[in-house]
Amino acid sequence: MSNELTIKEFYEAACQAAIETDPRGKDKVIKSLTDAKKEYEKMTNEKKKKNFDLETLKNPYADSRILYGDINKKVSKVICGIDLEVGELMLTDRLNEKGANIDFAIAHHPEGSAQANFYDVMYMQSDIIADWGVPINKSEGATKKRMADIEKRVSSSNHMRSVDAAKLLDIAYACMHTFADNHVATFLTNLMEEKKPEKVSEVVEIIESIEEFQMATTNNNPPKMFAGSDKNRAGKVIVDMTGGTTADVQVMSQLANAGVGTIIVMHLPEEHRKECEKNYINVVCAGHIGSDSLGLNLMFKAIRDITKKDFEVVPCSGLLYIKR
Ligand SMILES: [Zn+2]
Repeated sequence: MSNELTIKEFYEAACQAAIETDPRGKDKVIKSLTDAKKEYEKMTNEKKKKNFDLETLKNPYADSRILYGDINKKVSKVICGIDLEVGELMLTDRLNEKGANIDFAIAHHPEGSAQANFYDVMYMQSDIIADWGVPINKSEGATKKRMADIEKRVSSSNHMRSVDAAKLLDIAYACMHTFADNHVATFLTNLMEEKKPEKVSEVVEIIESIEEFQMATTNNNPPKMFAGSDKNRAGKVIVDMTGGTTADVQVMSQLANAGVGTIIVMHLPEEHRKECEKNYINVVCAGHIGSDSLGLNLMFKAIRDITKKDFEVVPCSGLLYIKR
């Protein structure tokens, strides 16, 4: 048997691993897929049924999709970037001209049709926030409001631009966003549960001990305190790093009421940061690129573990790659 995996195997293993590391727990994700299937079968509007994205019945993450290419193509070398767009696709073509033999280009941040409705993945935040102790009616209400805001914000973007370039250059192309973010969220949550940091400074030290964050630090992008103080007691620590994008600003005070003491994020809008400060929540910003890189590196490891097949990764566009 060849040791090369196909794009289909790569994508399906990445999806399986994302479901297994979903902070909501695998059972809840499987139930959401079963519910979606039932709803599709009940659909009577033919026009709606025709336009329905059947992929959502297998892959619950709207922001992670194969965007172009033959799914049966064999993959031995992928190029991956935090943002992999027209420039990086041109770079891939240039590298291949020089003999790089790259088979598959993977963007982390959503592109194409997966960018146009990426806000769909945010529904998972309702359950995640409820697991942190916020009543489900409140987390659901805040999530729906934020999803509607983001829907309007992304509707005007020229989302097929990079996919058009991939087609013209004939480069297999995908984006894997929540596929990777679930890994970093669960990895850091488990680490905090295991190490039980007492002070915020210990939370920062645990993050600093991880190689991807050390690499980001050498690029002058270390983990930083955004609110509170490293001398404060950490209290209940949560990791908010998956579910499409940052939750609604209302959620910050809901978390404080639910007993959250410290929140670890990749990035945080100023409005949210101020709300945390007002509610005495310590905010540790682990850093966007370090966090995205850790998620992707864990995702690649999971794909290798599931398929028992290896592939090479060419990092670009910010990805701090290490083979885990
Ligand atoms: Zn990101």
